[in-house]
Amino acid sequence: MSELGGQCLCGGVSVIAKGAMTDADACHCAMCRRQNAGGAFYAAHFEGGVAFSGDSLKWFNSSDYAERGFCSDCSATLSWRMKAMPEQASVSLGLFDSAPGQISSRIFSDEAGGYETLPTDVPHKTGEQVIAEFMARQSANKE
Ligand SMILES: [Zn+2]
Ligand SMILES: [Zn+2]
Repeated sequence: MSELGGQCLCGGVSVIAKGAMTDADACHCAMCRRQNAGGAFYAAHFEGGVAFSGDSLKWFNSSDYAERGFCSDCSATLSWRMKAMPEQASVSLGLFDSAPGQISSRIFSDEAGGYETLPTDVPHKTGEQVIAEFMARQSANKE
């Protein structure tokens, strides 16, 4: 399985993404914007998951169901993951020197900041649409 290495701004945290990128999107929700200097979080998933290493990796408990990985030295945004599914953590595309692919959608477009004009390079999805798609996938997995 191929591996792609990346790192945070200070280099204290390294990441290895395993296998092909399976999906990526830019999240414009209010929480991501608050964490990411007002911008979207460009988050990707990989076939074999991602492995982080480094003492400055910290997980912020951002809601009842999810947590956000960041570097406690340089404050780089690293990851978002569901507490119930840590093996499916997303990783910030900004950590890699060369992009492994393009985003396929802009999500939580209805929560985008009033200061930003969303590019129309890819389809937009509202928070409601994203949650409905997630729930449909979850129930399909259970069958
Ligand atoms: Zn760092
Ligand atoms: Zn978000």
